[in-house]
Amino acid sequence: MIKLSHIVKTYDSPAGPVHALKDISLEVARGEIFGIIGLSGAGKSTLIRCINMLERPTSGTVEVDGRDLTAMNNRELRAVRKKIGMIFQHFNLLSSATVYDNVAFPLRLAGTAEDTIRTKVTDLLGLVGLADKAHQYPSQLSGGQKQRVGIARALASDPSVLLCDEATSALDPQTTKAILRLIADINKKLGLTVVVITHEMQVIKDICDKVAVIDKGVIAEQGTVFDIFTEP
Ligand code: ADP
Ligand code: ADP
Repeated sequence: MIKLSHIVKTYDSPAGPVHALKDISLEVARGEIFGIIGLSGAGKSTLIRCINMLERPTSGTVEVDGRDLTAMNNRELRAVRKKIGMIFQHFNLLSSATVYDNVAFPLRLAGTAEDTIRTKVTDLLGLVGLADKAHQYPSQLSGGQKQRVGIARALASDPSVLLCDEATSALDPQTTKAILRLIADINKKLGLTVVVITHEMQVIKDICDKVAVIDKGVIAEQGTVFDIFTEP
């Protein structure tokens, strides 16, 4: 489903080149929940942003569903990105828009008809447990509720992949559990392939099938959660 081959990402900075990723290769199977764990600065954010090409790798290839994203022009990329939803640590909601309008946003950008949008947004708000919050604004919601809006928005264009960038790091432990349960439910119900980046071991243990441990831009270990976290 997702295949990263020999990904290198070097940032230019005034202090000289920053080697954020040094030859990363990994494969995520369809329907899997794949975790990427590492310390701050390890390269997790850069890596997940390479999967949807928010960040262009310096070299290497990114294949999603058998198509090489690194070979695509911007128009082709825009089409493919609709199939890759993403949620963020700080939710990235539009503060002046209601919950409904936040979820409708990607559909409006795509030129979807308003009656189709209404059905879709209503379904999605039901799925994430926010049916009664459609007309509230983000500032009226708890952190967990904001992330539920983020999830609904990410699902609006029927993606086959969901990328989660430290999606629970701003939440308390109890809310984290609930959001992880929701992500795992969505993975099962919709058959979505999920990639989760986190610095929290518990997140990986709770929902991931496979895990890659990333350290200073390289994969230190990779395998099933059972293999990596069970002491011999
Ligand atoms: P993580 O998500 O694991 O905290 P990042 O991918 O954010 O790691 O960062 C990896 C390394 O790349 C760090 O040294 C970080 O400072 C550097 N980095 C990230 N983004 C940029 C950028 N836009 N320009 C320069 N350096 C960057
Ligand atoms: P988070 O840890 O919440 O994911 P960061 O604070 O690491 O976010 O990064 C926020 C933004 O700044 C990202 O777009 C990242 O690429 C960029 N960034 C991170 N480190 C650097 C850096 N050393 N130089 C320039 N930009 C950076």
